[in-house]
Amino acid sequence: MRDLKSMDLEEMISFLKELEEPAFRGKQVFQWLHRGVTSFEEMTNLSKPLREKLSQTCYITVPQVERKQTSQIDGTIKYLWRLRDGNCVETVLMRYHHGNTVCISCQVGCRMGCAFCASTIGGKVRDLTPSEMLDQVLFTQLDSGAEISNIVLMGIGEPLDNFDTVLRFLELVNSPEGMNIGMRHISLSTCGLTEKIDKLAQHQLQLTLSVSLHAPDDETRSRIMPANRGIGVEKLFETCRRYFETTGRRISYEYAMIDGVNDSDWQADLLVKHLKGIPGHVNLIPLNEVAESPFHPSKRIRQFQERLERQGVTATVRRKLGGDIDASCGQLRRKHMEDEKP
Ligand code: SAH
Repeated sequence: MRDLKSMDLEEMISFLKELEEPAFRGKQVFQWLHRGVTSFEEMTNLSKPLREKLSQTCYITVPQVERKQTSQIDGTIKYLWRLRDGNCVETVLMRYHHGNTVCISCQVGCRMGCAFCASTIGGKVRDLTPSEMLDQVLFTQLDSGAEISNIVLMGIGEPLDNFDTVLRFLELVNSPEGMNIGMRHISLSTCGLTEKIDKLAQHQLQLTLSVSLHAPDDETRSRIMPANRGIGVEKLFETCRRYFETTGRRISYEYAMIDGVNDSDWQADLLVKHLKGIPGHVNLIPLNEVAESPFHPSKRIRQFQERLERQGVTATVRRKLGGDIDASCGQLRRKHMEDEKP
């Protein structure tokens, strides 16, 4: 059985050609799928025999709402979706003045091992498919009624560790025949896999690359982010510089402020040094406490921010949304797994 929604328009057209159907049929099927139909019967402009044939050879992914939490404070909605094989992933819908943003997952679990992150506890189970990534945007929009204008790949998983799938997803969601969400409205967050950042640069996408930095020195960064071992901060910044030079796109750096770990003045100063000559900006994030982790939020965010700003680095403190619904990566899936334990 084939996963029809993971095909791009070109593949869809040649697939339908194999079934002796004209090119416009491929486009019709593509459009139906990207409108979120859940069965072939709904594709009313196709003949019955063709619908039959499709249902015998293909399937349509339809995630089920396993849990849904709505923030009483700011209307943020967190979904836990159940996938075809029973695995679950999270999606968060955030409402901002400038539009609705959806934060999506790209893997079931994660193998990057960041010490402060709930998504990586239990490791990676599997990669998501392009259709499963698209479904998170599509079905969040359909279920909530909120039109999605922005996407961030900042949910569960490491996007650059599922590279080809993520590229296909971007192509799908960007398609004029589909949701047509512009690349400039999409951010991709990575823990800093340098080879893959170079590979991404070659695609010259207009998206925003977000690098989860969290520490400017190798000792701290390798301790809290094992993916740093064997790469190192120096090489990471060289790669970021190259990315900017190749794409002309500014990078944003994520920095979760952790008490006594990465919030010292010397670390702010070192960060400034690394960023010299690479246009970009720093997002300071209040650490979300994860039950299983020994880390606590820093109390020095403002001081750290001012120290960066005084030295010419723009730094913003991220507003916290959905604080009452565990709306940070991996927490809902974790909780669900705990609840399901016999
Ligand atoms: N794997 C990618 C994307 C998923 S994580 C990456 O590493 O960027 C999305 C962001 O949330 C990353 O910046 C990650 O470091 C951050 N994050 C993870 N756990 C967090 C926590 N407990 N508090 C604050 N930010 C966290």
